[in-house]
Amino acid sequence: MDPQTRLREAFFDRLGVSPSEKVPLSALSSFGIGGPADLFFEARTEAELETAVSLAVSEKYPFYVIGGGYNLLFDDAGYRGLIVRNRLDGVVREGHRLNALSGTGLACVLREALEAGLTGLEFLAGIPGTVGGAVYGNAGAYGWSIGDVLETATLYLPGDGRKVAPRDALGFGYRDSALKKGGAIVLSAVLVCSPGDRQESEARIRDILRKRWAKHPPHGTACAGSYFKNSCAESGARIAAGQLLDQAGARGRSVGDAAVSDVHCNFIINKGNARAADVLALADRLKELVYKTFGVRLEEEVIYLKADASMP
Ligand SMILES: Cc1cc2nc3c(=O)[nH]c(=O)nc-3n(C[C@H](O)[C@H](O)[C@H](O)COP(=O)(O)OP(=O)(O)OC[C@H]3O[C@@H](n4cnc5c(N)ncnc54)[C@H](O)[C@@H]3O)c2cc1C
Repeated sequence: MDPQTRLREAFFDRLGVSPSEKVPLSALSSFGIGGPADLFFEARTEAELETAVSLAVSEKYPFYVIGGGYNLLFDDAGYRGLIVRNRLDGVVREGHRLNALSGTGLACVLREALEAGLTGLEFLAGIPGTVGGAVYGNAGAYGWSIGDVLETATLYLPGDGRKVAPRDALGFGYRDSALKKGGAIVLSAVLVCSPGDRQESEARIRDILRKRWAKHPPHGTACAGSYFKNSCAESGARIAAGQLLDQAGARGRSVGDAAVSDVHCNFIINKGNARAADVLALADRLKELVYKTFGVRLEEEVIYLKADASMP
């Protein structure tokens, strides 16, 4: 029996359902790009997520866990393995802490905080995606990142089971965490807030959203947010990649239907039929442009998932 059929049968035995076949990844990424995944499964409970991953590991079948797909560029060839989409959803309030399942949308967590009269998560306003994806990439804006407010995360380590990791064990840095090297899967996270004033929080959120709308491409534009990380000057200060790109002449550049946004030079957008190859070629040209102009090497923030990759 071939590995794919074996895995589908193992799923059916354990979960009563088999992963779908040949699912287009373009529909699962905000870029709207990507060929078919050989297998695709949506996990709605922690048990389903753990079982899906452990079955793939025990069958030695490549797998990759995704959240909302807002920071991913899938391959034109799709994915030769199992894509597990995290649909765990729910937030529990514990005093001034929020314990959120990892597939919960950041907007939903922020809404829970507001309704509970808690403050501290306003910086998440307008950042799309799930708690798990945000913890993985230490998502943030306006000087705050999720690692600043995270107390613990419950992880699933394929082969080793569950572990509760405190913030210090998660190696948070600028758009970085230890999860990028370790391969652990976030099941849930405890975020610490403080008692606040709902009206003040709402005013802060409106202010953040106004700023974002003014400088980001229009809502619904096919993209994956900032393509490159802001780079680090010798002084340790961050230099906005968008500024470097603008000054280096990135505005107006395109390859196929992949183009630099007119609104913000650090956004590569899909104008309709862009392929991953177009995005990658454009990104290479932009890196070269910035390197030639400023001697700065830009590093990608968007994660490119090759067709034959697997979780680390
Ligand atoms: C319009 C737009 C604006 C954006 N603005 C911002 C911004 O202001 N600040 C910012 O930081 N980002 C921003 N982003 C990027 C994106 O919102 C964040 O990176 C977000 O955290 C991605 O979450 P996700 O659930 O979509 O993750 P995905 O894109 O699905 O996955 C990203 C990575 O996380 C890993 N991952 C996902 N879930 C888990 C899990 N449970 N356990 C372990 N690993 C996991 C995946 O394997 C993958 O490597 C923006 C994106 C868009 C499209």
